Amino acid sequence: MTHRPAGKLLSKLKTLLLLPLMLAAAALSAWAVYSVPSPIVDRMLEADLRKQADTWRRAVLLHLSNSKDAFVLGELDEHDREYLNLVPKTSDVYRLKLFESDGTIFWSTRAEEIGQRNTKEYFQTAVSQGVVYYKHEEKPATEVDGLMTAVNPDGSIPNREVAEVYSPVMHDGIFIGAIEFYSDITDVRNTFISRVRMSLALISLVTVTAMAIVSAVVFKSNRRSLRQVEERSAKDQEIMANQLQLAREVKLLGELNEWLQSCRSLGELFDMVSEFMSHLLPDSEGSIYVFSNSRDVLDGCASWNGGSHKDHIQPGECWGLRRGRTYEFGASEVEFTCAHAEPHDGRPYFCFPILAHGETVGLMHLRSRPSRAGDFSGCKQLAQMCAEQISMAIANVRMRDQLHDQSVRDPLTGLFNRRHMTECLRKFVGASQSRGRPLSVVSIDVDHFKKFNDNHGHDAGDMVLRAVGTALEQACDGEEVACRPGGEEFALLLPGVHPEDAVTKAELLRQAVEDVVVRYGEKALPRISISLGVAHYPAHGTMPQDLLRASDEALYEAKAKGRNQVCVAEGTAAAPRNPPAQIAAAGSAQDKDAAA
Ligand code: GH3
Ligand code: MG
Ligand code: MG
Repeated sequence: MTHRPAGKLLSKLKTLLLLPLMLAAAALSAWAVYSVPSPIVDRMLEADLRKQADTWRRAVLLHLSNSKDAFVLGELDEHDREYLNLVPKTSDVYRLKLFESDGTIFWSTRAEEIGQRNTKEYFQTAVSQGVVYYKHEEKPATEVDGLMTAVNPDGSIPNREVAEVYSPVMHDGIFIGAIEFYSDITDVRNTFISRVRMSLALISLVTVTAMAIVSAVVFKSNRRSLRQVEERSAKDQEIMANQLQLAREVKLLGELNEWLQSCRSLGELFDMVSEFMSHLLPDSEGSIYVFSNSRDVLDGCASWNGGSHKDHIQPGECWGLRRGRTYEFGASEVEFTCAHAEPHDGRPYFCFPILAHGETVGLMHLRSRPSRAGDFSGCKQLAQMCAEQISMAIANVRMRDQLHDQSVRDPLTGLFNRRHMTECLRKFVGASQSRGRPLSVVSIDVDHFKKFNDNHGHDAGDMVLRAVGTALEQACDGEEVACRPGGEEFALLLPGVHPEDAVTKAELLRQAVEDVVVRYGEKALPRISISLGVAHYPAHGTMPQDLLRASDEALYEAKAKGRNQVCVAEGTAAAPRNPPAQIAAAGSAQDKDAAA
């Protein structure tokens, strides 16, 4: 686009150059019309008069009684004189002179000239050599015989154009004399000159007009071709810009894909998506919603370029999700606004369902930015590609999360398994070692659990295990971890919890499990009780396995003391808070229930 003013400047320059050229051509034509005709006409008249003089000479010689004697002797008879006097009256010749070979005038229409001699050089060098001599000059009108002279208004005598032709007379190849004819060519010359001038003016006019037309045509065609070149160049530039833009988008998409592959969590993924989308689609604001685990709502996860997202939206609020394909608002005559897009100011928007492995996992909502007036619908294809990449990445992260969960969680209760428990404990011990943070481990075992299986079936046993797991999970705060290392054994890892609070927590858990009622079919299962053993870092061990062994030993002690109670590992100041009588009572009640 930048060369357009330069092209206009060039065409203006050309116009400016053409104008003086045309003016020069017109001036040249005017000069030609006024200057060229005179010499041309003079040339033509000379040729004509030379021929005519030849005719006149022949006529004179034919009419003379004895032309040879007349010129050689300079004698004329009466008849000759009579004829010669008649010549100015019967021809264009107004004056006539007859010369002998030495230049002596032996007859002239002006009698006073007879006997004079022409001594001019041209007579000797040209005429006496048999060459016709032509002379053209201006003479006062009074010099022209037989002319009625009209005086100019200023009183001066007008000039006349006079042609003089010396026609040599030869006899047997010998020069014997000459005849000089005077002819007034003023009128003929003027007529000729004006005719030639008219012709030239006409030719010039036609030529200049033709030149103007040709110039205009050339100029126009030049302008057209210049415009074509400009248009082609603009198109090339546009194509180049589009290709560069495409290359940039492809590169960014590739980079987005690469980054998304390395995402460890959905949070990280949405941060990356927000960053990339603001570069990939700078003219639109956007947000992403992802289905919650229950699949009844979508959670707002990310937004960019000034876009905002709601915390939750219903799947039915989006026409894109309801119709199972991209919804473009602003492209049709009749359309409806998605409820999740309210409040809506009429700007066009897209809703791209995010699909992974054939399942809808979320929604990408794009809306044109108020400050950008670009072609919003033009970004559809790129946005679609982004949505596909994002959906694959979400599916990948979710699958990774699922696999990780499967590897660290117990499928029956959802609590962490032994492997994860050991891992966590190692980390907590490390933190306690380096920062002196308190740490307690609680080992838990369901009392007489075998009886649930034996009396009510394995499924009922599983229900009991799940109920105990839920109670454990509810007992956990913050960093605390509930685990099921195996069978009907559980554990609590309590980092940052003081020994006394850990024992209290264990006791509260015991009471909570005691209060749990598990219904199996029509009936309620007997009450559940658990025995708990507590060990503290560093009093009962500074290594994970030492702590676990100490808490297990405390658990055995609780079992040994009658179950349904909390025991703290030996060597600690913190004592069990349950009075033994209460434990014993609870233990006997449980024993009775289990037996039932
Ligand atoms: P105690 O009070 O001494 O702990 O007695 P208990 O019956 O609870 O202990 P015991 O070790 O004799 O029995 C544990 C039983 O738990 C044996 C096993 O069949 C059962 N069990 C282990 N894992 C599961 C499980 O995943 N589901 C069910 N239903 N039972 C399990
Ligand atoms: Mg056991
Ligand atoms: Mg048991």
